[in-house]
Amino acid sequence: MKITSVDVFRIKGNMGWNYVVCRVNTDEGISGFGEIGVPFGTGNTGGFSMTADVAKLIIGMDPMKIELTWETIFRKAYWTTAGGALEIGAMSGLDIALWDIKGKAYNMPVYELLGGKTRDKLRAYASQIMFDWEPKVSIPLTRTEDYAKAAKKAVADGFDCVKVDPVMIDPKGGIMGMDADWQTRGLMKNEVLSIAVDRMNAVRDAVGAKVDIICELHGLTDTNTAIQLGREIDGLKCLCMEEPVIPLNVESMVEIARNVKTPLAGGERIFTRWGYREFLEKRALRVLQPDLGTVGGLTEGKKVADMANIYDVFIQYHTCGSPIALAAALQLEAVIPNFLIHEHLGRYGYDDTIATCTYDYQPKDGLFEIPDLPGIGQELTEETMKNADLKVTVK
Ligand code: MG
Repeated sequence: MKITSVDVFRIKGNMGWNYVVCRVNTDEGISGFGEIGVPFGTGNTGGFSMTADVAKLIIGMDPMKIELTWETIFRKAYWTTAGGALEIGAMSGLDIALWDIKGKAYNMPVYELLGGKTRDKLRAYASQIMFDWEPKVSIPLTRTEDYAKAAKKAVADGFDCVKVDPVMIDPKGGIMGMDADWQTRGLMKNEVLSIAVDRMNAVRDAVGAKVDIICELHGLTDTNTAIQLGREIDGLKCLCMEEPVIPLNVESMVEIARNVKTPLAGGERIFTRWGYREFLEKRALRVLQPDLGTVGGLTEGKKVADMANIYDVFIQYHTCGSPIALAAALQLEAVIPNFLIHEHLGRYGYDDTIATCTYDYQPKDGLFEIPDLPGIGQELTEETMKNADLKVTVK
């Protein structure tokens, strides 16, 4: 079998997100879908063009030789060997598409090819409830009592774990802003710290002791402020504290880990095994959160999980793309023995997100079933591909 062409699509999502999806085509008529994990933040136009550039390296190659294509891109694209969301994102999307092709060629779900299931259902959590937990909209919450209400809505939906960022939205409704009154780095003013702690307390009071809470921080805090906040909320027995600091300085994460009882999680901005190695060796992170769309695809996502397993570190794959990204995560989560929990964003349940793809996978009572279709079990619809905001075919 030979790769004959690669289509790259950018698809408009809600709230300004754009999904970058690739379709790898072969001379035997089998095509596979993959996604690049950069739907938000700055850079998805770059993700689109980067994927088109990187795809040239695998035209004419055998799509069944996934290790060879991975290594070819990693070494030949040059900048990939230093990591980076767009570079590794492009090779990740292509890698996922090749696994989809292999699954379709053997008429098997990808989880069978990766070693088979270690579980039949996947525990999921309601992610980012500071944007409320509603069936169709995301609303940045400012008032403490609304954090409690959102948490209760997620629990009523069947989830026994919720994730909330208590500092991302300032009291004026600004998101990840640089508001001088809402400084989350340096040292945290008592007013800011008090609001953040109140929000966390409100969520714990709302859900009770039987529901887990992940305290997300999006790297908005630094070593000092993460320790300030972490010490205040240690008593809430959160499952973990996520991205308390940006991942470029491993020692900062180590210092927080030594000063806060809550286990630390992170990984959506860490790329490949090389990126994760030091975090594991120095015991900086207790939960890894690689995004399959930026860590190096399904191939690398499994290797990072296997590497983490020897350090007793469990995995929660970061998912934030279209239903293509969701489907890829479900396949690998079914396989790895050190699976912790699946991240479920509310937007995966929105009608316009669901409409982009052929199949609809949603959690029931906080649990995902594992799709049994060949490949990753998900495809863009013809209409989505036809109406893509940007598209290019590389031959
Ligand atoms: Mg996160």
